[in-house]
Amino acid sequence: MNDIAFLKELPEDVVIPLLQHKGAVCEPVVSVGDTVHAGQKIGEASGAASAPVHASVSGTVAAIEKLPHPFGTKVLSVLITLDENQKKAGSIPVADPNPSEIRQIIKDAGIVEIHGTPTCDVIENIDTIIVNASYRSTLIAGCVGICSYPYEVHDGLKYMMQAAGAKQAVIAVNKVNKEALEALAGIELEENIKVVPVKTKYTPGMEDLLVYDIMGTTKQIGGKPEDAGVGVCGVNTAYEVYDAITTGRPSMHIPVSISGAVEKPQSLLVPIGMRFKDVIEACGGYSGDVGKVVMNGLTIGIAQYTDDVPVVKQTAGIIVVDKKDVLLDETYPCIHCARCVDVCPVDLIPSRIATYSDQGRYEECRGMHVMNCVECGECAGACPSKIHILQLIWRAKVAIDRAYADTAEKQTSNLTLGCCGGA
Ligand code: SF4
Ligand code: SF4
Repeated sequence: MNDIAFLKELPEDVVIPLLQHKGAVCEPVVSVGDTVHAGQKIGEASGAASAPVHASVSGTVAAIEKLPHPFGTKVLSVLITLDENQKKAGSIPVADPNPSEIRQIIKDAGIVEIHGTPTCDVIENIDTIIVNASYRSTLIAGCVGICSYPYEVHDGLKYMMQAAGAKQAVIAVNKVNKEALEALAGIELEENIKVVPVKTKYTPGMEDLLVYDIMGTTKQIGGKPEDAGVGVCGVNTAYEVYDAITTGRPSMHIPVSISGAVEKPQSLLVPIGMRFKDVIEACGGYSGDVGKVVMNGLTIGIAQYTDDVPVVKQTAGIIVVDKKDVLLDETYPCIHCARCVDVCPVDLIPSRIATYSDQGRYEECRGMHVMNCVECGECAGACPSKIHILQLIWRAKVAIDRAYADTAEKQTSNLTLGCCGGA
């Protein structure tokens, strides 16, 4: 699964949520009945951590209403019925843009990292950029992208460095992703851009650890990348930056890896707003009985209550779990194989912590540094006894958080809410 495939047929309609970032929901700038072209802005960003939203297809706005979103709620969305012509909105790239023009292009293109932070915010006040290509290629399509588009990712990174005034950049590639390493070895890198093979899969919650491992800065764990002057971005966003600068196109497609119980697992470039069920149909449909549909990984992804939800800027993978595998998900006693210990990127002993948590011995969990857990889920994924290690870790962390929280502060906020709605 190391090439990105293209859709043979577009769906009949797409649902484009006006919330695909951390900030507030965008204001719609189109009305029902309007004709829109691919690349046209349909939602205006408002406030901090917000990014504009664009039509990924051309057609007619059929509705603007709250519709299911993969994060589990209903969100104001623009439903577009596709037309036959698929016209694109005119886009004129800026010739030889200066750093402030590059920043503005990235902002206007609505490019957003997988955790929802707009990329233009990620590259504010930093001097180093790390492209996180540490996921395994078969799970996250963004890393497949580095095999297919190494020049574009590299040049997108160069533009980001110019925009940020960054001195250096690193492309962190999982060492098992040989194809990506070979693809990058085949291009001439800028002197201040290095490729670093890494052994860990750094999920978005592990960016502090990624920065620590790459930069060797001891104050980083538990902090934020920007505290160390580092901005971490994804492979796909580096590609999108290149695309926005060189063609004027905004963020409107995303590579998604579709795996599990589907006829043809693959990485597919899909328009934002295409429903999961249409994406799965484009992969030949479900194979077997569907147990669960999960966005972005089995351990820390989000299980969907319907396959009617659309692909958003945070969708990197769709995994279909067969019913028999869901039913088999019962736990067995620990066999002390230590696989969970071997895979833990922060050198914890997950089996011991899980046992203590199960027994309510949270102080012992704390003593075993449970709070350093980055919740990657690797231990649970490796456990042959299918022990719910991550859930037990969460339970311990919540209990410790509660026990050590500033109770005075907590009371104040509860009182502010009050039993009468904060009056
Ligand atoms: S989830 Fe498991 S493997 Fe990942 S950091 Fe926590 S204890 Fe370690
Ligand atoms: S991987 Fe599972 S069975 Fe093996 S030591 Fe860890 S908790 Fe026990």
